[in-house]
Amino acid sequence: MISKNYDVVVVGSGVFGIWSAYKLHAAGKRVAVVDFENPAHHLSSSGGESRVTRCSYGDVETYTEWASRSISDWQALSAKTRIPVFHQVGVLRIHKKNDESVMASTRMLERYEIPFTVLSPSELREQFPVMQVRDDEAGFFEPQGGALMAKRSVQLLAANLAQSGVVFISGLVLPIQQQQGYKGSLPSVTTVDGDRIDAEQFVIACGPWLDQVCPDAMAGRLFVTRQEVFFFDTNVNATGALPVWSDLPFYGFPSFEGRGFKIANDTHGCFVDPNTMDRNASNEGEADVRAYLRDRFPAFANAPLSETRVCQYENSSDGHFLMDRHPGFDNVWLVGCGSGHGFKHGPAVGNHVVDLINGTKEPLELFLLESKRLQQDRIVL
Ligand SMILES: Cc1cc2nc3c(=O)[nH]c(=O)nc-3n(C[C@H](O)[C@H](O)[C@H](O)COP(=O)(O)OP(=O)(O)OC[C@H]3O[C@@H](n4cnc5c(N)ncnc54)[C@H](O)[C@@H]3O)c2cc1C
Repeated sequence: MISKNYDVVVVGSGVFGIWSAYKLHAAGKRVAVVDFENPAHHLSSSGGESRVTRCSYGDVETYTEWASRSISDWQALSAKTRIPVFHQVGVLRIHKKNDESVMASTRMLERYEIPFTVLSPSELREQFPVMQVRDDEAGFFEPQGGALMAKRSVQLLAANLAQSGVVFISGLVLPIQQQQGYKGSLPSVTTVDGDRIDAEQFVIACGPWLDQVCPDAMAGRLFVTRQEVFFFDTNVNATGALPVWSDLPFYGFPSFEGRGFKIANDTHGCFVDPNTMDRNASNEGEADVRAYLRDRFPAFANAPLSETRVCQYENSSDGHFLMDRHPGFDNVWLVGCGSGHGFKHGPAVGNHVVDLINGTKEPLELFLLESKRLQQDRIVL
């Protein structure tokens, strides 16, 4: 039995769990974090090299607000270390002219006074000569966006927390079952080694394993998809001053820290189990990316592949996060379903967890468990 009178035990040390722990600790809670591996380990969804942050989300105000508010936390974390956590190089979205979601984003960013620029095809060609741009396209540039160094940021935050007294417990938490409850609450979680960890409240932030830890609550509501990422060995000078860019379904990053020009396809892959999925990128995936390169970045079409990664999105049916009370226990909070866009919101997720636990805010409608369906029908951009 591990009983240290914790106020909150956070299960999962990915970006959602670690920022929750950070904000709870900052709010004066006695916090412990449990994970079966190190923070942002290679199988976790937060374990990649880089993640895009941007504030444009069409007309979904919550994400614009959360992404925007999170930026100062990312900057503060980045300022604490000599190794950057946030490369604030801007984010460029290439889109068809008069795209409705981009128009909605411009209205929302204006409301929040978040800077952006709209670029014509000729301006795009002039600024980013490495890109091939058609006359019916346009650019939408957010200078405050950029690339978060994903794994590094989670690990730095975890190290910071450990130094300030937050306890990290190594253990695989067993599935939480209804019969463990006492008067509607969960007294403890149990690890595979038989340790029982007591707390007043529990935050279950288990990413793509959320349905394995909370099978009754999630029951078919988590869609874990296989996603491939490719890095190409391009001449850095050839990429020019490229920002992070999105050109859906493809998106990518200039080479940071010599890693290579990164491209990924945001289209959801097949359903997988994060423990057993094939983590080798496919020839088909590479061929799709190269076909895209030929069209948009012809100079890089034959660039040698320098690295690949295969990770997973932990999607809800609609693409909105899940942040709600467990239906079986009044002191257990489900925090997950980042759905391929959650990373940037880590700090705001942490703030909301504090509000939920303190009872100062109700769960948001967008993030309720009951809004999650048994079939995917994504609406988030
Ligand atoms: C290829 C790719 C690209 C992405 N791009 C972007 C992007 O550009 N911008 C963006 O904002 N987001 C992006 N995302 C999404 C974002 O990375 C994820 O939404 C986010 O990392 C999820 O974090 P998490 O903390 O919920 O899960 P995870 O990082 O997976 O963490 C879950 C943790 O729970 C632990 N755990 C699980 N089960 C147990 C158990 N039984 N006992 C103890 N511990 C347990 C795991 O070990 C793990 O450490 C991308 C994701 C991928 C895969």
